[in-house]
Amino acid sequence: MKVVKFGGSSLASGAQLEKVFQIVTSDPERRAVVVSAPGKRHPEDTKVTDLLIECAQQYLLSKEATGLVEAIVGRYADIALELGLADDVINRIRADLLQLLEGDKTNPERFIDAIKASGEDNNAKLVAAYFRHRGVEAHYVSPKDAGLFVTSEPGNAQVLPESYDNLFQLRQQKGIIIFPGFFGFSQEGEVMTFSRSGSDITGSILANGLKAELYENFTDVDAVYSVNPAIVSNPKEIRELTYREMRELSYAGFSVFHDEALIPAFRARIPVQIKNTNNPDAEGTRVVATRDNTNGPVVGIAGDSGFCSIYISKYLMNREIGFGRRVLQILEDEGLTYEHIPSGIDDITIILRQNQMDQAAEKRMIKRIKEELDADEVAIEHNIALIMVVGEAMRHNVGTTARASKALSEAGVNIEMINQGSSEVSMMFGVKEAQEKQAVRALYQEFFAKVLV
Ligand code: ASP
Repeated sequence: MKVVKFGGSSLASGAQLEKVFQIVTSDPERRAVVVSAPGKRHPEDTKVTDLLIECAQQYLLSKEATGLVEAIVGRYADIALELGLADDVINRIRADLLQLLEGDKTNPERFIDAIKASGEDNNAKLVAAYFRHRGVEAHYVSPKDAGLFVTSEPGNAQVLPESYDNLFQLRQQKGIIIFPGFFGFSQEGEVMTFSRSGSDITGSILANGLKAELYENFTDVDAVYSVNPAIVSNPKEIRELTYREMRELSYAGFSVFHDEALIPAFRARIPVQIKNTNNPDAEGTRVVATRDNTNGPVVGIAGDSGFCSIYISKYLMNREIGFGRRVLQILEDEGLTYEHIPSGIDDITIILRQNQMDQAAEKRMIKRIKEELDADEVAIEHNIALIMVVGEAMRHNVGTTARASKALSEAGVNIEMINQGSSEVSMMFGVKEAQEKQAVRALYQEFFAKVLV
C-alpha cells in the first residue's frame, strides 16, 4: 500500500485535480490520499488557508466576513464547476464554513484553528466527490473518526502515539481513502492544526499507521534540488538522500518537505518519494534510511535567515557549576526555544529565531543574564543567517570544513560562527543576512560546480 500526499498547488484548480485523479488511479497500490487545501494557481494568488485565517480574524473582530466567505467558497466552486460536480457539494462547504464561524470564540487561537483546518477538510470531501463522480470508489475519512489524536497546541500540534494503532484500522476501509491533511483532534475533541505546511506531517503519520510500503509526496517541482534554485540557477537534482540529511535541509530552509514530517516515516522505515504532480514521469527524490555515498561529501546546501545570537562571556565559566542550566532557565521563563549553542571556555553563544521576542522581551532577558549570572559581557546580534552544508559522507572525508571556509573567505564572506561536530551530518556557518546568498553560491560552486568539470 502507498500513501500519497498532494500539496496545495496540486489541488488549486479543476485541471490540477484531474492530474491527481490520473496519478492516483494509475496505480492500484495508491490506496490512501492525503490532501492539502487549494493552494496558489499563480504566484500572485492567495492560498485558501491564508484566506481562512483572514476570514477567522476578521470575524472575531467584526462578526462579519461575507466577502471572505464568498472568496473561499468561490475557490471550491470554481473547481467544482470545472469538474462538472453538482451544486450540493459547494452548498455543503458554504454551510460548514458558516457553521464554524458561529462556533465558540472564547479561545481565539482554537477558533482560528477550527476555521483553518476546514480548508483541507472540505477539500478532502470535494476530492472524494470527484473520484466518485468519475466512477471510482473513494471515501472521505475524518481524522476524528480515524483516531488521529494530537497534543492540545493550536497551530503547533504534535501527534499522540496511540494514533498509529487507531489509523492501522483504516486498512479495512474499502476503496480509496481521501484524508484531509494538516490537523488532528485533541483528546478533548477539538480541532488542532500542525504548523504551516503540515499536511506533509499527516501523510507521514498515515504512512506509519497504515504500515505503507511507500509515502509519495507530490508537489510542484521535479526533485529536491541541492540548493535553492532562486539563488543558484539550474542546480543539481538530488536523487537520493537520507532522512537525516533531508531533516537538516528542511530545517534550514528547504521548503519542499516539512521538517517535522520525516520522523513518523523514519520510525517505520518507510521511504519517502518526492514527485511532481505536473510531471509525474520525472524520477523525483527518494528519502531513505541509508544510501550509497556517490555524490561526494555534500548532498545539499541550505540557508535560512531571521536568527539572532546572544553572546555571553564570563571569565572561568568553564568552572562554574550550573551556568548553562541557569542561562537556559532564563530562556525557559521567557518561553523561548533555541536552535544552537556553540560554546568556548569562557563564552557561550545561543542562537534563536528572532521572531520569538519583541524588544521588551529581549531587554528583559539580557538584563536577567547580566544580573543573575553576573556575566562580564552580554551582546545580542540580529539578522544572522545560518547556512547548513549537509551530507552524511562528510564525516569520512578529510578537509570538508577547510574547503568550505576557504570558499567563503575567497568570496569575501565573514564567518560569524561555525558549528560542526554535534551533528554528524551537517556543518553550520552563521553569517550576516546580507551575505547569505553570496555564501550559498560560493559553497555550491565549491562542492557541486567544481566536481562537474
Ligand atoms: N494548507 C496548509 C498550509 O497552507 C497546510 C498544507 O498545505 O500543508 O499551511
